[in-house]
Amino acid sequence: MALKTGSEYIESLRKLNMTVYMFGEKVAVPVEHPIIRPSMNAVALTYDLALDPLTEDLMTATSHLTGKKINRFNHIFQSTNDLVKKVKRQRMLGQKSACCFQRCVGQDAFNAVYSTAFEIDEKYGTDYFERFKSYLLYVQEEDLVVDGAMTDVKGNRSLSPSQQVDPDMYLRVVERRPDGIVVRGCKAHQTGIVNSHEVLVMPTISMDAADKDYAVSFSVATDTPGVIMIYGRQSCDTRKMEGSQIDVGNSEYGGHEALVIFDDVFVPNDRVFLDGETEFVGMLVERFAGHHRPSYACKVGVGDVLIGAAALAADYNGVPKASHIKDKLIEMTHLNETIYSSALACSYEGSPTASGAYLIEMLLANVCKHNVTRFPYEICRLAEDIAGGLMVTLPSEKDYRSPELNGYIDKYLRGVDSVPTEHRMRILRLIENLTLGTGAVGYRTESMHGAGSPQAQRIMIARLSNMEHKKSLAKHIAKIPE
Ligand code: SF4
Ligand code: FE
Repeated sequence: MALKTGSEYIESLRKLNMTVYMFGEKVAVPVEHPIIRPSMNAVALTYDLALDPLTEDLMTATSHLTGKKINRFNHIFQSTNDLVKKVKRQRMLGQKSACCFQRCVGQDAFNAVYSTAFEIDEKYGTDYFERFKSYLLYVQEEDLVVDGAMTDVKGNRSLSPSQQVDPDMYLRVVERRPDGIVVRGCKAHQTGIVNSHEVLVMPTISMDAADKDYAVSFSVATDTPGVIMIYGRQSCDTRKMEGSQIDVGNSEYGGHEALVIFDDVFVPNDRVFLDGETEFVGMLVERFAGHHRPSYACKVGVGDVLIGAAALAADYNGVPKASHIKDKLIEMTHLNETIYSSALACSYEGSPTASGAYLIEMLLANVCKHNVTRFPYEICRLAEDIAGGLMVTLPSEKDYRSPELNGYIDKYLRGVDSVPTEHRMRILRLIENLTLGTGAVGYRTESMHGAGSPQAQRIMIARLSNMEHKKSLAKHIAKIPE
């Protein structure tokens, strides 16, 4: 099958019979829901841009399985150039959508499962790698969106999966049949799952022998019986139901997360890619997290939009030449480009795994995501500083459109005379969206916790920092014998 267009993608989702709940009710047609629709548009963009000659270089790749042109989101990294192009694609899509476009989790999951399955087979003679390759072929040929699902709800964080009072706090195998397995559990914060055709599940932490039933990776279609999605609330989400383009800040695009319950879901054997090999769980988790951390170059693209919005807010206020404004914009740019530098660096320094798939350089990938847990917050602070208080006290679009009030609002909320008041309102609402509204889920808090919270990176940085080598360097210079 050829690459799908954005509208073909939306039509393909319409055919799925997913179980989605929002505000206590089952959503009859998710693709039509005004809160879900912008997030679907963001994924549809990843289809349309793959067909656009201006962006196809970053958006498509050649399948190493078939030699055919595929969406780059469904590609296994074959070189450092592929890793670099992923980072550039992330930034470009962040610029065009100003939100989380969701499809990257799947690509990072493919690459982690692919290379780990190869190594499990090498040790145990299992056939996970062949199974996964056939699955990937299906995904590439059908041009599907696959959500990578890792984060378990985790219950008591001081206890391992098998020590939990409630054994379902980590997703597990509850039954083994000749033709497959039955799984139960719940994955939290599932980015883009309602916009996905399939879900690829992985364990969430390293495990030991006692956790055997929790060491499981598999895929199922998102409308498989027993898969239940409860849509996550976002700050200001119901504004999307009011029909105001200005008040939502970003009327076209958005992201979403959901709580996903696996209520005794059957998985056929050919979709199981890890079952019980606990010693490989750490490798799988580390590789997924390693790939996903530089994927946060998406925030650099969104950061570009926010920096641009702050600069426009200053222009509209008549202060683009004020030295403190210029300095704040420089600071924002420096922070943003620092994230980009580390995302690129870990990609250029990537190397092949035993399967041939390329892996990023782990220390730099963790430094990259650690930057992301901090710098967008400072960029938001500076954007709010430049925007001024009006960003959070602005009247609604309904008031602005009201014949009674329009004259007042138009007159008194004007900045420089040459810029219509409505443009000033639109920019301030965009800044509000990215710093406090639905867009802030993707730009702000997701920057903290997505792809692992800061402590997860600090543990990796500590492990990879090679302190003994640094000490011996110092001893050598100071002429202290080893
Ligand atoms: Fe992709 Fe960024 Fe969204 Fe994660 S936060 S899914 S990397 S766009
Ligand atoms: Fe994320």
